[in-house]
Amino acid sequence: MATLTFDSLNPATGEVVGTHPKQDATAVREAVGRAEEAAAWWTALGPAGRRRRLLDYKAVLAGRLRELAALVHQETGKPVGDAALELVLTITHLDWAARNADKVLRRRRVRTGMIGVNLEATLEYLPLGVVGVIGPWNYPVFTPMGSIAYALAAGNAVVFKPSELTPGVGVRLAELFAESVPERPVFQAVTGLGETGAALAADPRVRKIAFTGSTATAKRVMAACAQNLTPIVAECGGKDAFIVDADADVRAAADACLWGALSNAGQTCVGVERVYVVDAVYEPFMRELSERVASVKAGQDYGPITMPGQLDIIRRHIDDAVKSGRAVTGGPGSVRAPYVDPVIVEDVPEDSPAVREETFGPTITVRRTRDAREALELANASAYGLAGTVFSRNTRRARELARLMRSGMTAINSVISFAGVPSLPFGGVGDSGFGRIHGADGLREFARPKAVARQRFALPGMNLTSFTRRPEELERLIRIVTFLHGRRKR
Ligand code: NDP
Repeated sequence: MATLTFDSLNPATGEVVGTHPKQDATAVREAVGRAEEAAAWWTALGPAGRRRRLLDYKAVLAGRLRELAALVHQETGKPVGDAALELVLTITHLDWAARNADKVLRRRRVRTGMIGVNLEATLEYLPLGVVGVIGPWNYPVFTPMGSIAYALAAGNAVVFKPSELTPGVGVRLAELFAESVPERPVFQAVTGLGETGAALAADPRVRKIAFTGSTATAKRVMAACAQNLTPIVAECGGKDAFIVDADADVRAAADACLWGALSNAGQTCVGVERVYVVDAVYEPFMRELSERVASVKAGQDYGPITMPGQLDIIRRHIDDAVKSGRAVTGGPGSVRAPYVDPVIVEDVPEDSPAVREETFGPTITVRRTRDAREALELANASAYGLAGTVFSRNTRRARELARLMRSGMTAINSVISFAGVPSLPFGGVGDSGFGRIHGADGLREFARPKAVARQRFALPGMNLTSFTRRPEELERLIRIVTFLHGRRKR
């Protein structure tokens, strides 16, 4: 039951975009109750029925792409074109999840091994029931839908708590789902502030929480989930590194670096925040970067800082960085709320806040390194480990650097490209969280493996799991195992 309301504002103009109820714990409990019933119906529908409806939902979203992009623009301030791109990616993921869920999750036979020679073993992935999704505001469609689409495709019902900054987008996503699935509330949105999300995480009937947001809030959500042993997938922030190797195409690298750092005003969990450039190409890279950044304008190429409180963090990082490093572009004056102009600072000590903490603004630090190995060492010396980038013309070397980068995803000679590949899992290590959305791993994240072993016939003289077992039966087994496994290979 709604007791109070709150407004979502356009961060560029301060205008009210919409007014939404602050749904309290009772309202959340009621939504979860409805979702439980809907989950049973959705599961019983079977993979073909779910696939058909999810593909229809995809068509509804595609048909409303411009309308949704306009709403995302209003609530986040990002350019309409960027909002449209976010929707394109979402539609691609929804399509993949709908088409691949059955193939990934359906029952299959697995090998039984020597001791199980008389068994048939099957493995399938069953829905969890109700999944709670707690979403952020920076990509209010793409990010939560990375959990929602995969959870729905895996046969679960979803209760979604959008960020208080982008409730209108969240509500609209659920409303449009009901056009494709009018029968039951399989996908509901509950609006409110942090308490609404806390109530969702605390409900024991929620079988998994998919959280995206800050590491600090992830810990609070985990603590609430711990009360009921509710598992959680946590997609938290990052401090992603961008490595430019000696043989990189520096023009392409500078272009990609700026997009990765400045698009969405740097409010991207997999955005570029730290740049490590190998000495041999440092000067040409910096020349390219400085020339190109001159034509990128806040308020035109990217929008305002969506969350007003973030401006203080960005300001603190810039102030500190320019004191200890050397400003190449911008500086403290670049913060003119709600916008922040591009800021590039060189030689900032690795232990300073601008290098260690997530900035979530259109700023980068750049450091010269002896070689790619040193760049990798510095890139990996972070508590975060979400994603990263390597630019190199040497494919073997680039692949090796990507593999050794301590992160969930790495893009080579492109930036953030992994996010557009639905079959690739997405998620981090360390303070960036755990668990995966997207791809086959993302489908399995919202399912529980069910293992079944069926005895096809009794093995004569080998009734090992019985109190009637004779010593010679065990002796025979030991001899077989010693013969098969007892030879050491050097
Ligand atoms: P938060 O981590 O505070 O919030 C994320 C989501 O959690 C929101 O829906 C929020 O609701 C909800 N929430 C807040 N408190 C609780 C709680 N106790 N229990 C359950 N849910 C809760 O992120 P912010 O949006 O405030 O952004 C802060 C920082 O998070 C940024 O500076 C950035 O570093 C990081 N961030 C990272 C993102 C990523 O994609 N990795 C995305 C967004 C932010 P409400 O909005 O109503 O408070």
